[in-house]
Amino acid sequence: MISESVLNMINTMPYAGLLRNSRYKCVHANEEMAELFGFNNVGEFVESCDELSPVYQPDGIPSRNKLQMFLQDVMGTGKTMKYDWHYFRRDKELLHADVTLVRVEVDEKWYLLEFIQDINESKRARITEREANQRLQAMMDSCPVVCGLVDIHFNLLEINNEVGNLFGVFNKQYFIDRFFELSPEYQPDGQLSRRKALDKLKQTFEAGRVNYEWLHKNARGDEIPCAVTLVRIRLCEQDRAIMYIRDLREVKKSIAQIEKMQSIAYTDELTGLFNRRYFMDNANEILTKCKIEKLPFHIIMVDLDYFKSVNDTYGHLIGDEVLKITAKRMGGVTHRNNLIARFGGEEFIIMLSDMSYESALQNAWRIQKTMEESSFTISDLSLDVTTSVGIATLTDTSDSLDNIIHLADMALYAAKRTGRNKVMEYEQAKDMKF
Ligand code: GH3
Ligand code: MG
Ligand code: MG
Repeated sequence: MISESVLNMINTMPYAGLLRNSRYKCVHANEEMAELFGFNNVGEFVESCDELSPVYQPDGIPSRNKLQMFLQDVMGTGKTMKYDWHYFRRDKELLHADVTLVRVEVDEKWYLLEFIQDINESKRARITEREANQRLQAMMDSCPVVCGLVDIHFNLLEINNEVGNLFGVFNKQYFIDRFFELSPEYQPDGQLSRRKALDKLKQTFEAGRVNYEWLHKNARGDEIPCAVTLVRIRLCEQDRAIMYIRDLREVKKSIAQIEKMQSIAYTDELTGLFNRRYFMDNANEILTKCKIEKLPFHIIMVDLDYFKSVNDTYGHLIGDEVLKITAKRMGGVTHRNNLIARFGGEEFIIMLSDMSYESALQNAWRIQKTMEESSFTISDLSLDVTTSVGIATLTDTSDSLDNIIHLADMALYAAKRTGRNKVMEYEQAKDMKF
């Protein structure tokens, strides 16, 4: 009686395999084996198993003697043996195969497991594996950051040349052999380095990709804070992870650069306020939210009066100073839930949400009054500059941002046409004829 577990093991193996008992008799085989030899079922194969070799192997030794010798050797020593063998398939076609013979112990009995693989297929598999490795190597070598391959125990298998630049280690094998020695025993978060690495690897096999910080040391023992990314891959039917290591200080520098570029992209250089594009993107998002949650949403447009004459009289640079001071004043006047931007030349826009129309209107008045009542002091000049203000509010949920801005602009135009230095509400302005 052969134990269930051995039978299961053979049946579920992805290779052609057979089992011999301690007297070398074939007692079981899997379906892959029956198929390889052209039999319809395992039973037929098992019965004919020992009649499937030619009388002589290519070296002239009788197959029967040679096989007996191999079987006895593996059974006696427990050494795994690999050899070439000529078989005949059921249809008498020659099968040149790679054979692996292994001794196993089950329920205190010895068995021999025999794996048979068509030599052409096994060559093909080896070529595919070699090609896959070459491709991976080429990819890693072309990677602009340190990039390596690890197995499921976090053994480093490969590393690319970038390791020289980051760690000052130009012998890759040195780095591979001392990967954990080139890290302190404990990471700054208090975790044992090896434990943390294995935890992160486990998460990678579950989630596909994991990022974490890691403290390394270079060859001289200097600490190098790193940003590590592990990505799960399957390579020749094995679980592996690709590891990318970047200098954390460089990563932080580039994040700061990106943030700076972003801030340049959304701020107005002269006043430091948000620019029109940033305003439109963000106000649109807030408008959508206000529509869904049925919250108030208002737009105030502010335009300096006779600003052209400020430029004409005092020069463009003084005009610029007036714009800067105006920007600061508006920031101080309006309160929470607002977004202020320079909309164009000497025109500013304010979005107020989540506050009543009355409060929004008060904000508009406050801006206009502040500008009217306080002079602009620039160098030894004192200028009086007033503003006209238009206000409109979201009334119909179908109102788009462009439309509300257009209504506020109409109110602003009415303020200009009726004397400037005032606040005009769209509701007052809509029936005015100019
Ligand atoms: P109104 O009361 O009708 O608004 O008159 P205005 O003179 O303010 O209006 P107009 O649109 O004729 O002029 C706006 C001026 O703003 C024209 C332009 O020279 C000036 N301007 C636009 N951008 C800037 C800037 O960045 N700096 C300076 N100094 N002036 C600017
Ligand atoms: Mg103006
Ligand atoms: Mg204008």
